[in-house]
Amino acid sequence: MAVRWGLWGATTIAQEWVIGAIRAAGGEVVSLCGRDRARAEAYAAHNTIDQVFTDPAVFLGSGIDAVYISTINSFHHEQVLASAAAGKHILCEKPLALTLDAGREMIEACRAASVVFAVNHHLRNAAPHVAMKRMLLEGRIGDIVSLSITHAGYLPHHLQGWRINDMTAGSGVVLDLTVHDADLLTFLLDSEPESVFAIGSNSGMAVAGIEDSVNGTIRFRNGVTAAFFDAFTTPYAEHRLEVQGTRGSLMATGSLRQAPGGRLAVRDADGAQEVALNLTDLYQPNIRAFQNAIHGHGAPIATGEDGLRSLAVALAAKRSMETGAMVPVSR
Ligand code: NDP
Repeated sequence: MAVRWGLWGATTIAQEWVIGAIRAAGGEVVSLCGRDRARAEAYAAHNTIDQVFTDPAVFLGSGIDAVYISTINSFHHEQVLASAAAGKHILCEKPLALTLDAGREMIEACRAASVVFAVNHHLRNAAPHVAMKRMLLEGRIGDIVSLSITHAGYLPHHLQGWRINDMTAGSGVVLDLTVHDADLLTFLLDSEPESVFAIGSNSGMAVAGIEDSVNGTIRFRNGVTAAFFDAFTTPYAEHRLEVQGTRGSLMATGSLRQAPGGRLAVRDADGAQEVALNLTDLYQPNIRAFQNAIHGHGAPIATGEDGLRSLAVALAAKRSMETGAMVPVSR
């Protein structure tokens, strides 16, 4: 049976990517909950969604199986708790929450309610990263020595709102992009992040007190370190993810995006070669795995626990920015 979805938040991400991914994966988008009725109705009409609610309790009681939560970051916690209490399966946007206590409470609430809880870390599904993971598992570049990620671009004008001007929303580049880095690097390395050092900057795009770029390093339990540079302010930066190994190097470019794309090259004793890729949608795998988990088959690609881990790295990075110290990642 098709999973009946309700969307919590009339958001850009839902409209640009997730509604289409749900439909392509055989799910039905049946309702929307927004704060402003007129805006929600216009959004629903534009996206062919039948039912619109402004009262969350009525929305959650309206016969949906699953909720996709993509409101601003500060709302995720209470909306996950309400959805779990109503017995709904939940796909939540990153970052899971703004504190570890809140994240743990969300995971516990979903466990107690026996609902599937997933977080929408889509970058695991990018074709260059899937191929990279396979090649690392095959030992193609020997032992991993170091990783580096440049997740830097220009925050589009239509998204230059709460991310850069609302201290209470869960703003800043770390909660927006570094969480994705943390999840992707952990996925590739298959090792727990142990500590983080970060220096944030404000180049004037974000209001004072909110970082719009960050440089840092994550140390993993297996001894490998990963450097990251994340920014809203660099229109001409190229997205890059590099893994240096004892017998070769892997270089992905253009892969840290929402749309399918990017390239992967391997360089070793035989020279440099492009890796053939099968470019596919990055969001559909998350939706399919989530729906399968609802039907009792397998687990989400990124679980609530994965979301807690990436949040823990982001919060450690923020703490490091404040203190100037290397900060342990605690969960
Ligand atoms: P939008 O700015 O498009 O939408 C945010 C929504 O939050 C609004 O539609 C609104 O919902 C609600 N909201 C509540 N308070 C405010 C406020 N003060 N200002 C603005 N909106 C408010 O968000 P995005 O689509 O860009 O991002 C939404 C979520 O998705 C975030 O958690 C973000 O981190 C995540 N995201 C994830 C991506 C991924 O690839 N996994 C990519 C992009 C974003 P309403 O009016 O309907 O109540």
